[in-house]
Amino acid sequence: MRKLMIAGNWKMHLNTHEASLLVHRLSERIDVHRNVEVVLAPSTLCLQPLSLEIDRRKFRLAAQNAFYKDEGAFTGEVSFTMLRDLVHYCIVGHSERRAYFHDTLEVVRNKVEAAVRNGITPILCIGETEHERKSGETKQVLHDQLTTALSNLTTNDVRDVVIAYEPVWAIGTGVTAKPAQIDEAVRFIRHNVAELYGQKVSEEVRVLYGAGVEPEYVAGVLSLDAGIDGLLVGGASLNYHKFSEIVNAAYRTRREN
Ligand code: PEP
Repeated sequence: MRKLMIAGNWKMHLNTHEASLLVHRLSERIDVHRNVEVVLAPSTLCLQPLSLEIDRRKFRLAAQNAFYKDEGAFTGEVSFTMLRDLVHYCIVGHSERRAYFHDTLEVVRNKVEAAVRNGITPILCIGETEHERKSGETKQVLHDQLTTALSNLTTNDVRDVVIAYEPVWAIGTGVTAKPAQIDEAVRFIRHNVAELYGQKVSEEVRVLYGAGVEPEYVAGVLSLDAGIDGLLVGGASLNYHKFSEIVNAAYRTRREN
């Protein structure tokens, strides 16, 4: 059975002191769950101190971004090679990076490849904007983002990649995606993976949902027929009440299903 993942993307919030406090509060409220992997993605600055602080039975760390070259004259960048002993995961292709930092399809592909080369599992975010959805381009966009991002990997590598379906129009906007919309998109993603890498890989690969997740949505989203293996949480992951409730609700849902 695919292991559930609940990942919190803290974005550009919290200094090291605040991050440490949040981890402490989460640790008080989250038990060790064998079937739920809880992943925290703080700013790059906080990864080193948090890696020494976290209870590794409860939490794993993810970077929010890294550069695809392993080393060199790239002022201001941090490579996957530098992160390899600190994190299990790295978010790649988040819509904010695509929109504000020129993470094009090719850049995302290079980052996915660099993550895998360095033993870090990419959490590959794909999703359509409001304009793309309204223009009927959702499937084309998901197809293009997915196929390009995975194109330098072997079938074996693809098995371990975590894909996050994140409709851009529902990220931090207060607009919620309907269950049928999520279900349809995730089915399409699995169908694409099956076409490219075979049915077995499409059944093994984990697909998360992210965008506006709140505790009350957890059971519904995780019970969709498309088979959703967890959640990528932005805003609500900064609130320890909400994030621990999301983790605990995921655990309850998995136990009941
Ligand atoms: C995100 O940015 O990945 C995200 C899911 O944000 P939010 O939960 O705030 O919509």
